[in-house]
Amino acid sequence: MSRFLLSGKTAKQGADGKAMVIVLEHDIQVEDRNGIRAFLSEKGYQIREIVGQEETIFGAVGPAKVDPREVELLPGVKSVIPVSKPYKLASREMKKDDTLVRVGAVKIGGRRIVVIAGPCAVESREQILETARVLRASGAVMLRGGAYKPRTSPYSFQGLGEEGLRYLKEAGEAAGMPVVSEVVATGHIDLMRGYVDVFQIGARNMQNFELLKQVGKTGMPVLLKRGLSATIEEWLMAAEYLLAHGTDDVILCERGIRTFETYTRNTLDLSAIPVVKKLSHLPVIVDPSHATGIREKVPPMGLAAIAAGADGLTVEVHTDPARALSDGPQSLFPDQFEKLMRDIEALSAVVGKEVAKIPPAPAAGGTAFSVATDRPSAAGRNTRVAFQGESGAYSETALKGFFHFDVESLPRQSFDDIFSAVLEGKAEYGIIPLENSLTGSIHENYDLLLRYPDLKIVGETKLRIIHSLIGLPGAELSGIRKVFSHPQGLAQCRKFLEEHPSMRGESFYDTAGSVCFIAKAGRKDYAAIANREAAAIYGMHVLKEGIETNPHNYTRFAIISRTEIETSEKPNKAIIIFSAPDRPGALFACMKVLSGKNLNLTKIESRPIEGKPWQYLFYMGVEVPDNREMFTGALEELRAISEETPRVLGIYRV
Ligand code: PEP
Ligand code: MN
Repeated sequence: MSRFLLSGKTAKQGADGKAMVIVLEHDIQVEDRNGIRAFLSEKGYQIREIVGQEETIFGAVGPAKVDPREVELLPGVKSVIPVSKPYKLASREMKKDDTLVRVGAVKIGGRRIVVIAGPCAVESREQILETARVLRASGAVMLRGGAYKPRTSPYSFQGLGEEGLRYLKEAGEAAGMPVVSEVVATGHIDLMRGYVDVFQIGARNMQNFELLKQVGKTGMPVLLKRGLSATIEEWLMAAEYLLAHGTDDVILCERGIRTFETYTRNTLDLSAIPVVKKLSHLPVIVDPSHATGIREKVPPMGLAAIAAGADGLTVEVHTDPARALSDGPQSLFPDQFEKLMRDIEALSAVVGKEVAKIPPAPAAGGTAFSVATDRPSAAGRNTRVAFQGESGAYSETALKGFFHFDVESLPRQSFDDIFSAVLEGKAEYGIIPLENSLTGSIHENYDLLLRYPDLKIVGETKLRIIHSLIGLPGAELSGIRKVFSHPQGLAQCRKFLEEHPSMRGESFYDTAGSVCFIAKAGRKDYAAIANREAAAIYGMHVLKEGIETNPHNYTRFAIISRTEIETSEKPNKAIIIFSAPDRPGALFACMKVLSGKNLNLTKIESRPIEGKPWQYLFYMGVEVPDNREMFTGALEELRAISEETPRVLGIYRV
């Protein structure tokens, strides 16, 4: 993709000049594409091509010379939309899809919640190394730490400078986390490039335009704090400076603004999150530490930010806050941070997101292969993951949440087809639903796990199921007469359908497939119940989101593969299967084995054994302790009492 590098002159024109979005025809010819480019560059416009989910556009910024109607007449142009906002490249008008900022293996934006953590300032090598280790263990994916501190008082600790950057980089590398640090002066940029993965622009420098220009020119990712008393528009204009000078990767950070209130250090403007998400495509994270200035207020405001739609948090943590050289009172203790991460994990499913995880480090002496780190295969193609249904199915959304890198999703007709695709090597992984929180187990998949002994469960993920009523563009809720969906989809939206008696439910084989069907039928009185992602894929519109009767609707999926995953991280969950003999107390005896080894049972499910009426197999989810011997010991004992040798369907980390 071309980078939007403006020269000094055009950048200035861009800021107060004109911008437009040129939507290209789907089947545009190469000559027409080149023709549009040539026409615009001749008029002094800078062009960036943005390939979106639904369409490809040219974003053009330049002087106010061209009449958009003139551009609309060019061959290959579908439409031209002038960008009305003063910020152009940062605006949602310019780019409809969310921007994903990539920093190493970490992606910020989209469906992930990213947590950055670290001390306010790097104080010593030991401090930052130890802090990085504990933060990584709790689930932080990026390490923060100031080396140049913009302090209110010239007598306060000003940071360790380059020495601090060196320690920060070393700590980041040791813990496998990219690092972010604040840049306060243009003269530091070159030096800092060698140490940091992301530049932070602090609140006090948000309108230091020279700094913004020079940092933007590096093309590196930037975390841009909102100024102490900056309006949202001023903040987005600051982002525009960065984008106009060469970086595509800006992360906005709300960190509280000055108000009349003095109880907290600043006032966290939570409403800025949905406002900015609407105005801009850039990811927005929140800093509850500087926003509140008070340790105990950090977790509730951090969680509130996630609930309000933030893409992540940046949080100050100190191993000994009482001795911190700066911002001790607002720094969390490591234990508090760990608790916050657990709460974020629980909340993430509610807001339909996944907490971003750092790919585990490779096992000592083992392969570097893991579910989370696996990169495109040696053949240069993406890892393939088979799922059941059409594109846009809930399973596809779930797999995209699970794999923290780009994978190719392979639609399959049936669950059995997923297993055979993985067995035959057509896909490296498969994703299968095991259980829904409202409707219970998906027995077919339990049975298939038994039928395909060569496949193992290597991970699991859960997804909140939010059903949308999807119709044709221009369709009205009141005009819908027939609603197509999988019987489960219809059943889960029964209340909505009862409240709309003019709509009749029609069973369909698949939720996403029903969206594809109404798109083909082209009827404005048809609608489908499915995942909102399916609407975007088939060019349909969401008429109403969240129509499921019970919002506590989650599905748990298992990831299956032929190869087990080796990582240095210990597995903590196993699914085993065994049959208890048909005599009094047999199942109790099996349970006693687990209790004797202090193993926690997370689920038990029985299935009839084919050809042996009234005999059952038991599927059990078991928490595996760090001391694996307790688990293997339990297996040995089960072997002695169960009918057939117990089988481990998978042992993995959740
Ligand atoms: C910081 O993140 O350490 C910092 C100084 O933040 P802010 O610029 O938001 O005050
Ligand atoms: Mn601080």
